[in-house]
This record gives sequence, C-alpha cells and structure tokens, in this order.
Amino acid sequence: MTQTFEIAVFEGDGIGPEIMTPTVTLLSSLSEASRGYDLRFSTLPAGAAHYAKTGESLPESSLKSAGAADAILLSAMGLPDVRYPDGTEISPQIELRKAYGLFAGVRPVRLKPGQASPLNLPDNREIDFVLIRESTEGLFYSQGRGEVTQEAATETLRITRDVSEKLFRFAFDLAQGRKSTGRGPGRVTCVDKANVFRAFAFFRQIFDDIAKDFPDLIADHAYVDATALWMVQKPWDFDVLVTENMFGDILSDLGAGLMGGLGLAPSADIGLHQAVFQPCHGSAPDIAGRGVANPHAMILSAAMMLDWLGLKHNNAALLEDGRRLREAVENVVARGDRLTRDLGGSASTEEAASAVMRAVFAA
Ligand code: ATP
Ligand code: MG
Repeated sequence: MTQTFEIAVFEGDGIGPEIMTPTVTLLSSLSEASRGYDLRFSTLPAGAAHYAKTGESLPESSLKSAGAADAILLSAMGLPDVRYPDGTEISPQIELRKAYGLFAGVRPVRLKPGQASPLNLPDNREIDFVLIRESTEGLFYSQGRGEVTQEAATETLRITRDVSEKLFRFAFDLAQGRKSTGRGPGRVTCVDKANVFRAFAFFRQIFDDIAKDFPDLIADHAYVDATALWMVQKPWDFDVLVTENMFGDILSDLGAGLMGGLGLAPSADIGLHQAVFQPCHGSAPDIAGRGVANPHAMILSAAMMLDWLGLKHNNAALLEDGRRLREAVENVVARGDRLTRDLGGSASTEEAASAVMRAVFAA
C-alpha cells in the first residue's frame, strides 16, 4: 500500500535554494518510481531574506504548517548582514528546535576507505559512527540569559532529567537499530566531563540508569577531551556517542572535518514527534548565487529523512531508498570525477547532483 507523506521545505538563505532544488528533484524522482510511498512537498517562507522583506523571520503560518507536516527539510538560514535589532543572528532553525522539542541532534560521521580526508586511514578501516548532540539545553540554555558586569561574565549550564532521559533512550534505540542491521556493535558512549562538573555527573547518572533498560547493548563513558583525541586517533572505534549541547556543537565540526569538510556533513534534529533534516553547514553567503555549492550534505540529510520516516512508519520502501540515496552519494564521491570545488573538483552544483541522480537509478 502506498503511504503518503507531506514534507515541509524551507529553502532558506544563501546557497539554500541552490542545494534544495536538486534535492527535491531527486526525492521526487525516487517517490515517483516507488510504489511504497508518495512524497508531497510544500515550500514555506522563513529566514533572513524573508525577515529583511517582511520583518518576520519565521511566520506563524510556516511554523504551523511545518509542525503538521510528516517531516521538515531545511537547507540553511541566516545572512551575515541581516540581523535582529539587538544584533543577534537570524536563526529560525533554533526556534524550530524549541517549538517542536527537537532534543536529539544527530550527526553521522562516515568515511569510506579511499575517500579524501585529513586522516590517513589504515587500509582496512572505515569510519561509521553517529554523534548525538542534545540540542535544547546544556550550556546553550544560557543564550540571552548570561550575566555580564564590568568585572565578570557568567553563563548557566542546565541539564534536566526529562530531556536527558529522552536523549539517552533515543541513543540506545539508535544503537539497537544499527546493531540489528550490522552497522555497529551496539555500543553507546556518554561523552561528558563528570570528573569536574556536578551537572555532568548528574548527566552520567541518568545515562547509567537508562542503560539498565538496554541490557544487550554496551554502555560506556568518555571525557570530552579524550573523545576529541580519539576521534582523530581511532575514530573507527566509536558506534554511538551521546553528549551535551556545547560539547556536541564542537565535536560535530570535528566530525565534519574528518569526513573531508562541511559539504559532506548531514544532520537531523529529532524529537518525539517531529524532525528537521538539514546539512551541518550554514548558508555560505561567500559562494551563494554562483551554482558551485556542494549539494551532497543536503542530499545526505534527505536520505536521513527517508530513514527516519521509514523507521517511524514501518515502511521498507523508504528505508530502501534512504540507503540507495546515501550509497549513490558515496559512489559519486568515491569516483571523484563530479566533485564540487570544496572537494577539489570543478563540477557545478547541478553536475554533482545529476551524477547522484544517475547513480541512484543505475544501481
Ligand atoms: P553558520 O553560522 O550558519 O554555521 P558559518 O559561518 O559557520 O555558518 P558556513 O555557511 O557553514 O559558515 O560556511 C563556512 C565555509 O564553508 C564557507 O567558506 C562556505 O563557503 C563553505 N561551505 C559551506 N557549505 C558549503 C557547501 N555546501 N559547498 C561548498 N562550500 C560550503
Ligand atoms: Mg558554523
């Protein structure tokens, strides 16, 4: 039976529309060819350019429509020269996280043997782990609440039991799913600084409590500084890492670096009922409008959307197409003849995306 899914699309700012257009074309082609599901897209206004035009960065109607959709695709929002009157950046994606309670920031880090990377990967190794960044509290809770006097500045780190429990359950479920498909050993590592901060000892205690509900998975701990070292020295060792917001922010850029750059780094922000899929990179205003942006991070984020919808709705066709899309990007990157400039090639956005389209339907 064909299941139909409504996808809300935020094209956003800068290179946003340039990478979203070919991604929606790819998804539409997969959806048309599939008998297992049907995707319908609606594009919603939001972002810095929209704010400059209308004085609204995230219209109430967009927030409502996106909330009612089955999933949300977002490319990038924000422009350096468009700001709120108080000088802060326009970032409706943060409002979306708050509005829908998207506590789990999921950042897969994958590197195939032979793929360009600052690491010299031993021949028999590949990297395939997932970093989960808590996305609604931690040190980012302090945003706008910090105190600054002439003499000192103070910020607040907040960790709650409720969000941490949901976060850790999500991490163990993900590790379980990876184990059942042979992608990981079924191991979750809690990344913290429990030796120094009471808030992280609290975080770790909740992790240990939730771990008891998953007796067939391995649960362990690592300090964030050691994790940064190991991400460079033995990144093939990890399966699922779960951490606080600020630590996750930093480690996920390190992960993107290992993969050969931001142009290949997808992400998802997931809650109990809704999820936003968007590349790790921003709106890249320095290259916008020239048709040279790398579309792969956006396409890989769309593949994560198919995975998430497939698992949530028990739809094998979606899961299959999520895998096909990811493998098509990996094949195009491995072949190396249709790379955009950030990866050392000279292909346009259009050429890189067309190569993925051919790879999907050739496989
Ligand atoms: P944000 O604050 O939104 O994270 P940022 O200031 O970190 O944004 P990005 O927009 O992510 O910056 O861009 C960082 C650099 O990476 C820029 O030089 C940009 O051109 C480059 N870049 C980002 N995304 C891509 C892409 N898809 N293809 C090619 N280059 C990219
Ligand atoms: Mg950035």
